[in-house]
Amino acid sequence: MAFSRATGKHRRPSALTRRTASIAGVAALTTTGVIGSLGSTAFAADAKTAPEDTGTLTKAVSIGDTLTERIDAQAAAQEEAAERAAAEEKAEAEAKRKAEAKAKAEREAKERAAREAERKRLNTFIAPIAGSYVSTAYKAGGAVWSSGSHTGIDFHAASGTSVRSVGMGTVVEAGWGGAYGNNVVIKMNDGTYTQYGHLSSITVTVGQQVTPGQQIGLSGATGNVTGPHLHFEARTSPDYGSDIDPVAYLRSHGVSI
Ligand SMILES: [Zn+2]
Repeated sequence: MAFSRATGKHRRPSALTRRTASIAGVAALTTTGVIGSLGSTAFAADAKTAPEDTGTLTKAVSIGDTLTERIDAQAAAQEEAAERAAAEEKAEAEAKRKAEAKAKAEREAKERAAREAERKRLNTFIAPIAGSYVSTAYKAGGAVWSSGSHTGIDFHAASGTSVRSVGMGTVVEAGWGGAYGNNVVIKMNDGTYTQYGHLSSITVTVGQQVTPGQQIGLSGATGNVTGPHLHFEARTSPDYGSDIDPVAYLRSHGVSI
């Protein structure tokens, strides 16, 4: 029995079964149609892959655009960076120029100040013996002077004391001066002359330029003297007899005496 039933299953189906099968077939067909439709849709979609490819292309172009934009952006960034670098370079150059101009101005101001200080120093007059005093006045009378009166002033100074030029000038005489002993005569820059006598030694030579305070020799007691001191004269010429008041002369040149 199980045999016939089993065989029966392989027999042609009954009408009902066929109808059912048929309905199922329609359903199957419908399904197929759907599938076909789906397939067709799929195909259509495939067919539409062109636009979609175009879309892809568009996308590629859009990627291209992005790249272009990126390149443009990079170029813009590079240009901006270059402009920034150029601006920085310009600013640096400007800062350097300003710093150099400032340094130059400062250097020039310093040089001007130094020149002014030097000019002032060179125009300054000082006493021929530092920290000394006048021991014998100008025009003082006495047998010791051949003219009958003192043609200069005497500064108290022990032998070997530094004797300095009272101002800037040129040595016009340096050597033995008779009653003056070893003496130095300097033509000052203002055209006047100064003379220094009784020196124990002379440290300048004729023609030498001297500045205020520069040592020209050492004091002593050479020539017609009773003791060591510095004999100082101010003159209008290099010669004996053209003497002027040395105290007034030094004071007129700013020396406190
Ligand atoms: Zn004297």
